[in-house]
Amino acid sequence: SGVEPGGAESGVLKSDGLLEKDRRHLWHNMRPYRANDRPLVIVEAMGSWVTDHEGNRYLDGMSGLWCVNVGYGRKELADAAARQLQRMPYYPLTQSHLPAIELAEKLGEWLEGDYVVFFANSGSEANETAFKIARQYQQHIGKPLRSKFIARYRGYHGSSLGALAATGQAIRKQGYEPLAAGFLHVRPPDSYRRPEGMTAEAFQLLCAREIEERIIWEGEDTVAGVIMEPVITGGGIIVPDQLYVDEVRRICTEYGVLLIIDEVICGFGRSGRKFGHHNYGIAPDIVTMAKGLTSGYLPLASTAVKREIYEAFQRTGEYDHLRHVNTFGGNPAACALAMANLEVMEKEQLPQRAARLGEELLNGLKRELADHPYVGDIRGFGLLIGIELVEDRDSRKPAAAAIVQSVIDRCRAAGLIISKNGDTVAGMNNVLTTAPPLSSTDEDMAFLLTVLVESVQSLRQN
Ligand code: PMP
Repeated sequence: SGVEPGGAESGVLKSDGLLEKDRRHLWHNMRPYRANDRPLVIVEAMGSWVTDHEGNRYLDGMSGLWCVNVGYGRKELADAAARQLQRMPYYPLTQSHLPAIELAEKLGEWLEGDYVVFFANSGSEANETAFKIARQYQQHIGKPLRSKFIARYRGYHGSSLGALAATGQAIRKQGYEPLAAGFLHVRPPDSYRRPEGMTAEAFQLLCAREIEERIIWEGEDTVAGVIMEPVITGGGIIVPDQLYVDEVRRICTEYGVLLIIDEVICGFGRSGRKFGHHNYGIAPDIVTMAKGLTSGYLPLASTAVKREIYEAFQRTGEYDHLRHVNTFGGNPAACALAMANLEVMEKEQLPQRAARLGEELLNGLKRELADHPYVGDIRGFGLLIGIELVEDRDSRKPAAAAIVQSVIDRCRAAGLIISKNGDTVAGMNNVLTTAPPLSSTDEDMAFLLTVLVESVQSLRQN
């Protein structure tokens, strides 16, 4: 297999200056400028595979940006959106409409708790909404000084000035400051990089208790919330132990701090359950969602809050309500499409499928690569896998950027898209990452495993 030319019958465009036009007019996301840069120009996609403008096919081991959970080319999703666009394309949620009502009810079912839902368009906005709700809620219950948020280093929560402030990766912030004030960071529960001589259990507890310490030192009546992903994803697939998550939940409850769980990547089956936090059996106060909510087909995001938080806003003062408006959030076509997306996931049991495929992939990688001199750690959470590359296994020194990139390039040349994640400033952008569509076939997964293993093994010859 590998990179195959599209052939005349594929109907794929030929270059015709496309890349020149791209370079002239289109500003990409997170892409360093290089004079000879050649971004993939994707023109077709089906299942787990994408095709570029030159007819090359790739298995999309990143589901776009971790979002195409049901895979590409689902006609029922497109049809649901098209029907709704023709019936009623837009109405704001200052009033209401049917697709939003139905989806809000459905999300309550998926969350397995008593939640009320606010809609937006992106993960960043869902988190911004959560921060505003948390602060105002604290005011409503008589804690007006509770404005701060605690997040973890290496966590990612979005690109807007509040969500970026919550983000714990310095390179994304540098040069864009000042960001929103009031966001504090603590260490991530990265047991692979725990101090020598400490048990993983003791380290996980230490990390959780750092949150408690910060709350105490800051003054417990000044902290509104803790925000965390169930598993740190963009920061390098850092999977906490049960006891860490339990301890964070205990601390938040004890100090009256809202626990905001960012399910933007971990949600919608990616983790092997409906939501990442379901794997830990905790009940968040606020859940933020985007990406897999529509499998990326249209923009839609959501902030779900426990009913008691919503009810604290049901006061009679003129400014007591949530004074937050979002023109496009909860667009009817996006909601209808999200509903179809969730129905596909239910019908095909995609969370369960992600659990199985993820476990098989993790086992396969461990079997083939566990002894490799450059492989420090292999981690997984459902169909979300990280391989931490190191210079040598004793010192755990992170592998150089060029080494990590060479594996990604080899995968690409063989027809597989993967990524790297971590923290550039800390010198740890060394975690190879894959998160293919949950609907990937067994053959897709075999291809992914083979190419990834061969690409990592090629490092032996370097
Ligand atoms: N939270 C997490 C965990 C994310 O991974 C992302 C996006 N990568 C966001 C929030 C922000 O989402 P968006 O890019 O849709 O604003």
